[in-house]
Amino acid sequence: MQNTLQHTAFNVEKVRADFPILKVHVNNKPLVYFDNGATAQKPTQVIDAIAKYYYEENSNIHRGVHTLSQKATTHYELARTTVQKHLNAADVNEIIFTRGTTESINLVAHCFGKLFIKAGDEIILSEMEHHSNILPWQVLCEERGAVLKVIPVTENGELNLEEYKKLLSDKTKLIAVTHVSNTLGVVNDVKEIIAAAKQKNIPVLLDGAQAIPHMVVDVQELDCDFYCFSGHKIYAPTGIGVLYAKAKWVEKFEPYQTGGGTIKTVTFEKTVYVDGPLKFEAGTPNIEGAIGLAAALNYLNEIGLDTIAAYENELVHYATEKLKQLPGVKIYGDVKDKAAVISFNVNNAHPFDVGTLLDKQGVAVRTGHHCNQPLMQCFNIPGTVRASFAFYNTTHEIDVFISALEKAIKMLL
Ligand code: PMP
Repeated sequence: MQNTLQHTAFNVEKVRADFPILKVHVNNKPLVYFDNGATAQKPTQVIDAIAKYYYEENSNIHRGVHTLSQKATTHYELARTTVQKHLNAADVNEIIFTRGTTESINLVAHCFGKLFIKAGDEIILSEMEHHSNILPWQVLCEERGAVLKVIPVTENGELNLEEYKKLLSDKTKLIAVTHVSNTLGVVNDVKEIIAAAKQKNIPVLLDGAQAIPHMVVDVQELDCDFYCFSGHKIYAPTGIGVLYAKAKWVEKFEPYQTGGGTIKTVTFEKTVYVDGPLKFEAGTPNIEGAIGLAAALNYLNEIGLDTIAAYENELVHYATEKLKQLPGVKIYGDVKDKAAVISFNVNNAHPFDVGTLLDKQGVAVRTGHHCNQPLMQCFNIPGTVRASFAFYNTTHEIDVFISALEKAIKMLL
């Protein structure tokens, strides 16, 4: 496959060779994988790191005196340091391993809620949040008699920051917003959101699930209190994720779940918990997941996230221009500052029908509400077709997708 983008010093063929699954055929057609927003494919470097762990080191971590256990512990903790460096967190103890973004948000809702939320308090979210960044807060508000406040989305799919500022009050206890919209790809001005919150000393949680694969994230520069992401969207395995929490929250929060690995001492009368992230990692954690995540981050950093962002930006603009030339296509969130995601509909065709016809031609896209039902209600649509790109995608694949879509449109007219 030829890469027709001229302006980037990026060898897409070389990186494609790192992803074995890209050679797969679907419905007798070469796979065109445009569902990266749901989960990204894994390079050999990640698969090999996990295999090496199972071939050579598998053992339970922390508390083992034998060599394998110490090796596994070292690699698990090295993975934490890799994440710390990747996010530029001030301290390695600010990195908590979780199952993914969903669990990270649940952890904060539980721990923050238990200590700081009471009746009448307010939590601010936005209309474009993924259900994973709505439900934990909704449950918390129901339990405590607190109130959810919602930042509205404008017609072109951006957060209305003027309205956001009006929502801020002495009752506001926390703001939880997405860094990048999973449906629209719109990149939110989180710096402005955080700056306004800081004036009132309100903590901010960022859902970074869709931002982390596409851009450099520096939590100190952002000055957010919490940053959440999932490994599987950044070329690492499923079942591993990260919660970055500023040290003061790690210290204040009580354990989310309790059990082995979280304690200093236990008697039937009283338990004393360890300090730091292990307090939140009860039970045997996802050791190979953490090792795979570190391998993925090392792999990405070798290519360079700025290089990746520039190339993906070219891909998304190339696809947007091609899509706009097709009759009846409506794009949602067609703004300048966006990650590698395009959501659209075709005339009155149901997104499922479009997605099914694309799949028959080997093109994998996602259809439906994308766990964004409130956003769908805001646009008054049942769902969209979403094409989401990764740096291993090519303009040739976009051409294949566009001609497959042209065929689908003809069939659906
Ligand atoms: N937030 C956003 C913005 C997402 O895109 C996703 C995944 N679609 C999630 C949260 C939930 O991530 P996970 O299922 O990996 O926990």
